[in-house]
Amino acid sequence: MSAKSKDSGGIAITDPEAVKELFGIYPATARFIGEKHETNYRTINGAKQPVEQTVKEFEASYTGEEPTVCPKCGAKMFSHGSRKTMICDTPNGGKASRIYVSVPRRRCSNPECHYIWKAEMEGIDDNRKITTRAEYSIIEQSVRNTFEEVARNYAMTSVSVLNIFSDFIAQHKEIMQFRMPEYLGIDEIKVNGQFITVMTNLEKHTMYDLLEKRTQDFLEEHFASLPLSEREKVKWVCSDMYRPFKKPIGAYLPNAKWAIDHFHVVMKANLAVDEIRKNIQNKYPGKTGAKFKHGPAYTLRKRLKDLDSDEADAIRWMRDDPDLNPLATAYDLKEDFFNIYDENLSSKENAQQAFADWEASLPPAPEDESEKDIYAPFRELASTVHNFYDPIFNVWDCDIAISNGYTECSNRLTRETHLRGRGYSFDRLRAKVLLRNVNIEKAIREGSSDYDGPVLTENNMSNLQYYEQTANDGFDLTAQGYSPGAHIDPETGEVIEPGSTEQLNITDKKESF
Ligand SMILES: [Zn+2]
Repeated sequence: MSAKSKDSGGIAITDPEAVKELFGIYPATARFIGEKHETNYRTINGAKQPVEQTVKEFEASYTGEEPTVCPKCGAKMFSHGSRKTMICDTPNGGKASRIYVSVPRRRCSNPECHYIWKAEMEGIDDNRKITTRAEYSIIEQSVRNTFEEVARNYAMTSVSVLNIFSDFIAQHKEIMQFRMPEYLGIDEIKVNGQFITVMTNLEKHTMYDLLEKRTQDFLEEHFASLPLSEREKVKWVCSDMYRPFKKPIGAYLPNAKWAIDHFHVVMKANLAVDEIRKNIQNKYPGKTGAKFKHGPAYTLRKRLKDLDSDEADAIRWMRDDPDLNPLATAYDLKEDFFNIYDENLSSKENAQQAFADWEASLPPAPEDESEKDIYAPFRELASTVHNFYDPIFNVWDCDIAISNGYTECSNRLTRETHLRGRGYSFDRLRAKVLLRNVNIEKAIREGSSDYDGPVLTENNMSNLQYYEQTANDGFDLTAQGYSPGAHIDPETGEVIEPGSTEQLNITDKKESF
């Protein structure tokens, strides 16, 4: 930088344009003071412990105009000293950095007025004591990392980072309002003992929104709050079968048809087999165990084509045993039910016929009503299909394979066991999920209602997965893949690994001093 020169106190930058380029603040001169070694308290092994940290310190002085007459009354103004504030900035050369900013003050000479003028500098958030670019960077880092990890890079406390993040999302709700999808997926997950609604764009496989509740009233209220021009865009809504959607769709999404996600339908067949298995195992305790290397529940859930030879043998063995034979029949019924979809991908009529054939193939209920109806769970499944017949078979009328992306993401939800923080509020969780891959600065500048939400990935779904697990209060962190000794930070609700003190690799935006 041409304007950089050495003086007695360190490297000084006297050109305000150069300072703007380096620090994002304007108009000011700047000077590198030096490196300061300090002790900050970080959460390690469950307790606050001192960590030595090197912080680069700079000084910046306002160089803009100062009023000579009072903007209120027009009287003469006099110097009223200056005000020095400590401002956090983005890391520099891998080290936390801060700027001591000095701004002049002037006071009106009119005793009736005594107005005090204070210079303001572009690029500084005076309330939060950080540079604007550090603020954006903290938000973006906080979306993907724990507040504690981000805090280390800024020589801040994790609570300060949490507060910056929370204030920001409260003040910029608009950047989490994405374009309404043409193919809207709606599901629910349980968090902290309550169900929340997850909405996705099924065509683009992006997140659309999270809602704090799942009730019909809440959904209707939410849809009603969106402009009709947005709501008219929705052509399809895909959900499970338990959502009372008929009314909200008709009332608020005038162009939408309702389709029931096929994954949710076929899962009911797995649940039916499971129920029958439990009944039979209760009746004949210990009988199935040895034949199944991963247990019968695991094998019975597998598709026929995916069974290995041992598992196929175990099913055959069950079929030949008079006590266990009904369980083999239940397995067949489950397979046939899955095939209603798998073998009739292109014809709705054939699929409807396959369902009718499947229902007709159910073994009849025992005539003696005191006798247990082994296949009752499948009879319930059949009546569920009848209750939701149109939306279940609407799937075939949709011009995209409407269930696929959804299934994938539900599977991820189930599989992914990563968890980052346990006590995030709903708002923070929502922000962490929705702001993934969002350029914060650009979103604020342009508004986000013109683009789609973040792409569904293993990572952003993991935030949800963690949240789902918080429903279980007594869970074991080591069982979630954390090291023994991992604990939850009581202040931020995050999981902190033992001994973890490493910093994030934040790319420096400014030249290294
Ligand atoms: Zn005045």
